[in-house]
Amino acid sequence: MNAPAPRFFAFDNTYVRDLEEFYVLWKPTPASKPSLIRLNEELARELGADPAALASPAGIATLAGSLVPEGAEPIAQAYAGHQFGHFSPQLGDGRALLLGEVIDRSGERRDIAFKGSGRTPFSRNGDGKCALGPALREYIISEAMHALGIPTTRSLAVVATGDMVRRDRAQPGAVLTRVAASHVRVGTFQYFAAHQGPEQVKRLADYVIARHYPELATSPQPYLDLLAAVGERQAELVARWLGVGFIHGVMNTDNMTLSGETIDYGPCAFMETYSPGTVFSSIDSAGRYAYGKQAGIARWNLARLAETLLPLIDTDDNRAVQAATAVIDALPERQAEHWLRVFRAKLGIDETGDAEADSALIDDFLRLLKQKHLDFTVAFRALFHAASGDPTRLNALMTSATDFADWQSRWQARQPTRPAGLLTAMQRANPCYIPRNHRVEAALDAAVDDNNLEPFERLLAVIQSPFDERAVDAEYAEPAPTEFTTSYMTFCGT
Ligand code: AMP
Ligand code: MG
Repeated sequence: MNAPAPRFFAFDNTYVRDLEEFYVLWKPTPASKPSLIRLNEELARELGADPAALASPAGIATLAGSLVPEGAEPIAQAYAGHQFGHFSPQLGDGRALLLGEVIDRSGERRDIAFKGSGRTPFSRNGDGKCALGPALREYIISEAMHALGIPTTRSLAVVATGDMVRRDRAQPGAVLTRVAASHVRVGTFQYFAAHQGPEQVKRLADYVIARHYPELATSPQPYLDLLAAVGERQAELVARWLGVGFIHGVMNTDNMTLSGETIDYGPCAFMETYSPGTVFSSIDSAGRYAYGKQAGIARWNLARLAETLLPLIDTDDNRAVQAATAVIDALPERQAEHWLRVFRAKLGIDETGDAEADSALIDDFLRLLKQKHLDFTVAFRALFHAASGDPTRLNALMTSATDFADWQSRWQARQPTRPAGLLTAMQRANPCYIPRNHRVEAALDAAVDDNNLEPFERLLAVIQSPFDERAVDAEYAEPAPTEFTTSYMTFCGT
């Protein structure tokens, strides 16, 4: 059994090299009977790997955690985090392992990591495993986000392990291979701030600057600038979420990256009928992470990051707090600017208008959606059709909305004509297809209960091209039946 380890990736592992003490070296748990459920061939190529090799028995065994490939140095990363506002000093990779890093075809460093590869020293009471349903869910939603142009971790593969995992009922187990710009989280900073002090936080901050914000390396105040730069990326990210109706569902500080990518697709879901209070997660009864609260929560999380950076920002406590507070206080304006950019694109209006007037125009359209209980995605798509010269759908949605005629004439006056570029941008801001919750659930049920991957593959194909309308895919653009949405609940994949 001493066959040489297969080589699939050209690993180059800076986290292991540069940050000893920030992780535990660990091995994935071998799977009983690995079988390939889904391989992202395009992403494999992007990472410099051969998809055929990954789909071979040795490749599948590797993606199941049964073989450690050459050059990988699997680690469980340490992190802490505020979960629903309460601090847990020790979380860490309880069911994940970072295999290593590769430089992709465009020269970017990417993490390749497993989710569901067995217990680690951070597992606490968990089994370290992942059920097939949640693995497929992360695959489809992360790939949808990517297709929508939103920064996100990607999914390289889902492999069934052949082992059952115990949840509310026994379910087939799986390993998801996740690809990320990095897995450093706000919670990673919190862990080292809580347990080890400023020297270690500085090492981590320097690592993050080198990896994600190299332009800050020569700044006279790199750590304050780091806080502002992460704030900027998160402001943009959340604005993009809001633009497609995405609800992350569990915006704990351990689920917020320093890179600005969306991470950890647990109880996330897309809003259907427009309503800022929308929550789907079964564990969020207070609505802390509702659609409309996400920008505020991002600020709250960034304030937690700021706390860990204070000793690096200034040796004088008061001055450090003052400087960091100024950055946090500037966030609402940064977020408003990104929100305005995203929603101007959705309305098909250019960047030249008065910000306040444009914000009011956007808000008034959202008010109409709310008043008419309209599906967010369908209504904005109809607006795009209206801008393209066919107002039939929009008029049908807005029948008997008395304020609509007035709104429409303001919208028309604001942007009487649209150059092609603006219309294309409007199309890309208003997808026709999102991974609708009822479609996702049906696809997962078929895969898990009936071993039928056809609905999953079909849905995946649809959401991978979200902007061009296709007659054959018409049903995928339709909202869920109301009965479905009113009782829809998402669960953490644990
Ligand atoms: P999450 O809700 O997925 O963001 O996870 C929060 C924390 O719980 C992280 O430290 C995870 O590693 C850990 N965790 C989640 N599920 C499991 C599991 N099945 N076994 C062990 N640890 C888990
Ligand atoms: Mg997490």
